Amino acid sequence: MLEDNYKQRGLRNKLVKMLEKKGISDARVLAAIAKVPRHFFFENALLEHAYQDKAFPIGEGQTISQPYTVAFQSEKLEIRPGDKVLEIGTGSGYQACILVELGARVYTIEYNRVLFEQTKSFLPQIGYNPYFFYGDGSKGLPAKAPFNKIIVTAGAPVIPKALTDQLADGGILIIPVGDRESQRMLRIRKTGDKLQKEEFANFAFVPLLGEQGWKS
Ligand code: SAM
Repeated sequence: MLEDNYKQRGLRNKLVKMLEKKGISDARVLAAIAKVPRHFFFENALLEHAYQDKAFPIGEGQTISQPYTVAFQSEKLEIRPGDKVLEIGTGSGYQACILVELGARVYTIEYNRVLFEQTKSFLPQIGYNPYFFYGDGSKGLPAKAPFNKIIVTAGAPVIPKALTDQLADGGILIIPVGDRESQRMLRIRKTGDKLQKEEFANFAFVPLLGEQGWKS
């Protein structure tokens, strides 16, 4: 039975304060973090880890991203209610829930069949209903393009052209790009045919696989 009591809400508020101290300032992002019960994504025995600012294994060699990373990428996406957002790397589904709380229409794609099945069945049970897709998100999701925002939650070797092609005019792509160990967070803004790139700090993601990602 999934329970969200005063103790867990208290831990979430503490996490929010920690994220504010680390520089997250978007009140809507902080409110979303305060709302989504991150401990629902952890097994009972591991609950104490849920509200630490750390990535955590979710099986299949993958991770639920660190709350700071989720907040950072969400803030940089400048989500407006009604935005059509593509998330590449569904994983546990936690980031997708934050995007839903921000008022986005979320399309999320996962390459690992086991995680795809698990998360597609779990998220609706806790009240979140993004659109789930199974496949290689390094090619985007051409059938549903264009998107106002695209978020890549795995480390890419390059910026896949398919993703900038699938951005709507005025759209934003946030993507970590680098080698397998460390990636620079990039934000690409599309205006007409022009792409404007901004660079932020380094992060460490699991690799983006697939045609425009790493080969294994
Ligand atoms: N957003 C996730 C969350 O909130 O839990 C964390 C994602 S985890 C750091 C990265 C995910 O990207 C993994 O689940 C991995 O299987 C997935 N992935 C890797 N390459 C992919 C690809 N080409 N297309 C879609 N998903 C991919």
